[in-house]
Amino acid sequence: MEEKSKIMVEHVVVWNRCLEIIKDNIPSVSFKTWFLPIKPLKLTNKVLTIQVPSPFFYEYLEEQYIDILRSTLKKELGIGAKLEYNVVMDKERTDKQLYTVAYPEKSKSVPENKPFSMSIAASADKSIRNPFVIPGLQKLHVDPQLNAEYTFNNFIEGECNRLVRSAGIAVSSKPGGTAFNPLFIYGNSGLGKTHLAQAIGIQVKEQYPQKIVLYVSSNKFITQYTDSIRKNNLNDFIHFYQMIDVLIIDDVQEFAGKDKTQNTFFHIFNHLQQSGKQLILTSDKPPVELKGMNQRLLSRFKWGLAAELSNPDYLTRLAILRHKIYKEGLSIPEEVVEFIATHVKNNVRELEGTLISLLAQSTLNKKEITLELAKELINKIVVNTKKILSIDEIQKIVCDHFNLNVNVLQSKSRKREIVQARQMAMYFSKNLTKFSLAVIGSKIGGKDHTTVLHAYKTITNMLETDKVFKKDLFEIEQKLLLA
Ligand code: ADP
Ligand code: MG
Repeated sequence: MEEKSKIMVEHVVVWNRCLEIIKDNIPSVSFKTWFLPIKPLKLTNKVLTIQVPSPFFYEYLEEQYIDILRSTLKKELGIGAKLEYNVVMDKERTDKQLYTVAYPEKSKSVPENKPFSMSIAASADKSIRNPFVIPGLQKLHVDPQLNAEYTFNNFIEGECNRLVRSAGIAVSSKPGGTAFNPLFIYGNSGLGKTHLAQAIGIQVKEQYPQKIVLYVSSNKFITQYTDSIRKNNLNDFIHFYQMIDVLIIDDVQEFAGKDKTQNTFFHIFNHLQQSGKQLILTSDKPPVELKGMNQRLLSRFKWGLAAELSNPDYLTRLAILRHKIYKEGLSIPEEVVEFIATHVKNNVRELEGTLISLLAQSTLNKKEITLELAKELINKIVVNTKKILSIDEIQKIVCDHFNLNVNVLQSKSRKREIVQARQMAMYFSKNLTKFSLAVIGSKIGGKDHTTVLHAYKTITNMLETDKVFKKDLFEIEQKLLLA
């Protein structure tokens, strides 16, 4: 009896002695993270079997602690000692699926693609499904989803992006190894967040081809998460993300209000960060201004560096345009370039958009790219999207155009010209402001939202059929845009 209980606990004793040694040789955080969760299961003929919580866990141990495990075991059990792992494949399934990996004492240093070989072994029967794996390759290969154009070389440096850009370069030369983890890039739309985040990914891949890099938009992440719930393979989803070395998540403001996704992301985030993996997040707002976010997730966002991309200054705008023109092999007069750089101020995407429209216009109409053409275009497309108009201004400009007193729009009059002016004001308010249909209606003649919608449709129809009307509308639009 006594003999039997001694045999039963021997594995525990041996493992505890190993732990004593390991504990003194690695940082205490690592010890707690990677060794305390291990359960010794049995010891037979110098083969110690331990249970680890996930395939990732096994991989990490093999990658980071193979040497200390080997030597400790040898010390405790002598020559011929072996370690076997039981890996819990899926904690949530009731029937625990275990599988065993023999760990021969002689196995020398970790081969190149070792860290992920386990997942492949596992995928023979219990596949770790993930949406980015390219099938048919021997090694686990994740398509990083990077756009080759978005390099650092193509990302023009300026006052507006100096800090983020240099943080990005630091991160790519030492992913996971700087204080910038996560690197949180924020700024308005069109200022280069996606470009910069991708540039980091590209650079990492160049310097460390073995590292697993993944770019994913928050929306895609949300969809994948939802799918995994529907298909009952959330654990595969989590495991997959936990294997990434450099994870780039674009537009995290999209996580707002999605509690369950945030929760899962929180776990992935923690895991990656604890394992020294790099996270890069982008958002249209700084962490403090993000609404609908779980507090503990938000607090994580603030751990690394949050840095802003701001509006490009004139010289940067000029440099970006010139770079683009040069790269595309275009020829555009310098005065036109300067004109665009002067007038398109808020947004790099718009800067590029203007250039593209200008090219399109000149090709379509067989016109040369002149200052005139640039001016015409900028009036149309740029001022258009930037100018913030009030509903009152719109009513005034519409009425001025038809020589009407602005008050008539508020009257009950059903006179054709007044009805039409009212409808136009509604149409422009819907197009050029962010007000709801209900607000627009209440401001223009005290109508309800269905009237506004009807007006909008009527105007849109007339636009297609009535040339004179179209000309009127276009003229008013120009006045509005230049107001
Ligand atoms: P965001 O993700 O912030 O909305 P993007 O990264 O999509 O913005 O950038 C919009 C466009 O502007 C892209 O085509 C990008 O290449 C370009 N761009 C932004 N910043 C720069 C820059 N500093 N130099 C060159 N191109 C830039
Ligand atoms: Mg973007």
